[in-house]
Amino acid sequence: MNKHCKRCGWEIVDLNLLKEHQVEVLGQIQSGQKMRAIQTIYNKLNIGLADSKAVVLHLNAEYGQCVNCDFSELDQEAMECPECSAFNYNLKIEG
Ligand SMILES: [Zn+2]
Ligand SMILES: [Zn+2]
Repeated sequence: MNKHCKRCGWEIVDLNLLKEHQVEVLGQIQSGQKMRAIQTIYNKLNIGLADSKAVVLHLNAEYGQCVNCDFSELDQEAMECPECSAFNYNLKIEG
């Protein structure tokens, strides 16, 4: 089921990515290559570019840290921020 972000009102598709692709996308986001991250998700999930962009904009670069505010205690892989109600993909990549 798709996610819904209460803050911006967007639908966000499920992130059914293999772990190795999650690592790839997260690495791209962390190094500021958001366009490449969007492209990676677009290719791997076979969804539209707008949907890919919505995913990237809701995927935090640092585990626990909300994409939209200063809250830094997010503890689930996909959850709404209790502070600002923005949806977050909060991926934990084990070393
Ligand atoms: Zn949002
Ligand atoms: Zn927040």
